[in-house]
Amino acid sequence: MRRASTPGNKYTPIRRCAGCGTRRPRTELLRIVRRPEGEIVFDPTGRLDGRGAHVCPDPACLERARKRGSIARSLHLEQGQYIPDPIWEALSAAAERRA
Ligand SMILES: [Zn+2]
Repeated sequence: MRRASTPGNKYTPIRRCAGCGTRRPRTELLRIVRRPEGEIVFDPTGRLDGRGAHVCPDPACLERARKRGSIARSLHLEQGQYIPDPIWEALSAAAERRA
């Protein structure tokens, strides 16, 4: 899944929002990553290793993704494992900045 980004390479991967299901260029979405060691982090750079989930920078999408547990599902979390509150706070703050 890793692609070297070279100058002039216009390839932008498309990812699906865990809230509304819209497909958008990855650069327009917020990324949440489950690190190889299991830690869950918000990834503002889009560069961290690990399994990622994506959501629109939109409070409505965040809310929906949170209620549906779709990010936890995309990250293949264990049952009973969930996205920690500080991650949601960081995502909301980022969504507000982008709005
Ligand atoms: Zn969305």
